[in-house]
Amino acid sequence: MKKYEGSCHCGAIAFAFVCPEVKRIMRCDCSLCARKGIAMTTTTIAPNDIEICDPEGVLATYQFGTMTARHHFCSRCGIHAFVETRLNPGHYRVNLGCVDELDAMRLPEELYDGNSL
Ligand SMILES: [Zn+2]
Repeated sequence: MKKYEGSCHCGAIAFAFVCPEVKRIMRCDCSLCARKGIAMTTTTIAPNDIEICDPEGVLATYQFGTMTARHHFCSRCGIHAFVETRLNPGHYRVNLGCVDELDAMRLPEELYDGNSL
């Protein structure tokens, strides 16, 4: 397991999480992710393994469809930093583009068939 740190674009929201070393990214083809075009963790992260820092209270949440997944974004810069997944509520996938240490756009990717859920 490895610890990563990330933030939204404006820096209002910072977070840290622990997961297996990131060697691949996941792209989801659901109607929302196709629009966001983000690279996410291939594994889900347990609530105890993520720490979210939002001192100004700018974190907002978008939900659609079954209203199960919770897509969290910064209401100042608009960046979707992480999502609480539909299949594993309360567990997170993180936007790896928010992690400075990773060159997320250059990692091999797998496509997730979110559109069929
Ligand atoms: Zn922000």
